Amino acid sequence: QALIIAIDGPSGVGKSTLSRRLAKKLNYVNIDTGAMYRSVALAAHRAGIAPDDEASLSALCLRIEIRFVRQDEMERVLLNGEDVSEAIRTPEISLLSSRVSAHPVVRRALVELQRELGRNGGVVLEGRDIGTVVFPGADVKFFLAASAAERGRRRWLELRDKGLDVDLERTIEEVEARDAADTQRTHAPLRQAQDAVCIDTTHLDIDQVLERMLEVVAQ
Ligand code: C5P
Repeated sequence: QALIIAIDGPSGVGKSTLSRRLAKKLNYVNIDTGAMYRSVALAAHRAGIAPDDEASLSALCLRIEIRFVRQDEMERVLLNGEDVSEAIRTPEISLLSSRVSAHPVVRRALVELQRELGRNGGVVLEGRDIGTVVFPGADVKFFLAASAAERGRRRWLELRDKGLDVDLERTIEEVEARDAADTQRTHAPLRQAQDAVCIDTTHLDIDQVLERMLEVVAQ
């Protein structure tokens, strides 16, 4: 059968990687909802729209088209037909996406699109509010967790691999600050759905978490 699978959790917990791997295993479509908020942020940035200009953001949502395609085994994000997969990952756009995603008009537009994309099942959707808002009736819901120290450490390793010399303590503090913003915001704050299966990944590697998820899906 074609299920709707929801994966929620804080930033840096490994949602993107796990969502992609799980979708691949099941031959499902993977939908990275964070990439959608990032695409709106990029479009706003390019159009010179301030992140607090709700009316312009609302109009912008009506005229942009976001699509996911697979190219050479890689998932790409298309904004009005243009491949923006890399452009949406800069620190500047990360920050902007968080501000843009705070607007109910933006959330409404993207949630509608997410529901449309997931409607027929056979999808893994990954984000902050999938199991609580987008698909409260999802067939399987996961909530991924890991300590801030561990998520900070993973982020720090990732940055070091890219040749960036950053401070570990500082990186952990940034993760904690983002957690606070995500859980305390007024609209769609990050929280675990009551019926979600919570997996604490602090002491697990990607393969172990994936195995656990596949067990739950098979039940
Ligand atoms: O997961 P990612 O870091 O790509 O998300 C980018 C931004 O979009 C984050 O600031 C996050 O709070 C927001 N977001 C959201 N709802 C989602 C997915 C992401 O508000 N379902």
